[in-house]
Amino acid sequence: MKKKLPPNLDKATKPIHAGHLTHPVYGEVSVPIFQTSTFAFPSADEGAARFSGADPGYIYTRLGNPTVHALEENLAELENGYGALATATGMAAITTLFLSLLNQHDHLLAGDCLYGPTEVVIEAELPRFGIATTLVDTSDLSALASALRPNTRMIYLETPANPTMKITDLKGAAAIAHQHGALLAVDNTFCSPYVQRPLELGADLVVHSLTKYLSGHSDVLGGMIIANNAMLFRRIKKTLTLFGATMDPHQAWLILRGVRTLPLRLAKAQENALKLAEFLANHPKVTWVRHPGLPHHPQHALAKKQMDGFGAMLCFGVAKGREGARILLNQVRLITLAVSLGGVESLIEHPASMTHASLSPQRREQAGIRDELVRLSVGCEDFSDLRADLDQALNKIP
Ligand SMILES: *Cc1c(COP(=O)(O)O)cnc(C)c1O
Repeated sequence: MKKKLPPNLDKATKPIHAGHLTHPVYGEVSVPIFQTSTFAFPSADEGAARFSGADPGYIYTRLGNPTVHALEENLAELENGYGALATATGMAAITTLFLSLLNQHDHLLAGDCLYGPTEVVIEAELPRFGIATTLVDTSDLSALASALRPNTRMIYLETPANPTMKITDLKGAAAIAHQHGALLAVDNTFCSPYVQRPLELGADLVVHSLTKYLSGHSDVLGGMIIANNAMLFRRIKKTLTLFGATMDPHQAWLILRGVRTLPLRLAKAQENALKLAEFLANHPKVTWVRHPGLPHHPQHALAKKQMDGFGAMLCFGVAKGREGARILLNQVRLITLAVSLGGVESLIEHPASMTHASLSPQRREQAGIRDELVRLSVGCEDFSDLRADLDQALNKIP
């Protein structure tokens, strides 16, 4: 009964079909929730065989669960990786990645414009374990290359960067990492595999917050690590199952449900995002707009080359600086004032006082997170409703 999928499926087909049960119970079309902590062995010998690895059967849900496994197979397929490991949250994926692959005295070279909590882990937590860290503008490949140290073990970055939408050349960054014997790891949350597949461009590892586009309905947390080879996969799996930041089967089921509509949701959201970016670029209360799909984005050509579409995130500067941003956020009626991103509903937030408030003012300045910057996660609503809402709110700025 195991489903054999045809090869070379399109990126719109894979999310619907990839990831299935090795042993369906009743021919079920939806993967069931295996809400069990442990699995009975048919015999003592079989139990021993599962522990030795001779038999791949399930043992205990922290070590593996069929519902979670179906989601892992789905994501491994979407990112074109060797294997994927599901985690409790996106932050659990990121910290498990670091704790699996970095040792005392290693150096981690990371982008200077990252998800806020990731940056705090890199700057304040990893050094406690004797891991040296440096932040650098990875969109500048020569700056990246000259920040390498003899003990640099990993380069870690986000592209487009959050929230500034700066883009890093993934092929170039992979070449720099590999020449040095280091790994390239990419947080692909902002794009999802529908828009960008870093492993195909040379990265060794991808992490996701599944809380965002992949689940897509702002109702569940989750994370995933995708490795491009067996050695990395096994190393990370060992740390993950020992340290215990694994995913619950009910969570996996909700996320699998969301993944199936990823192509439909993102196609609509990124169409809306490009149209809104164009609208905002011509609005008198908007001072500048950053979206990779706009021809005036400094790295528009690179975005076109390495992304498959431009995603549905954008940021812009509001007239009257922080006060203008405050008015806009208080006046929107359809768009929701909330952090997070990637859901079917559009969300608006102010990074300098919210998602990136934990950074020092100098670090924000260095990363280009100015007080007038507003971040928008564009959802799947009708475009003219979104445009009208932004227009009325922006026009309240004196
Ligand atoms: C949300 C987010 C994370 C963290 O994910 P959680 O699921 O909230 O732990 C990491 N990276 C990026 C880019 C994110 O947007």
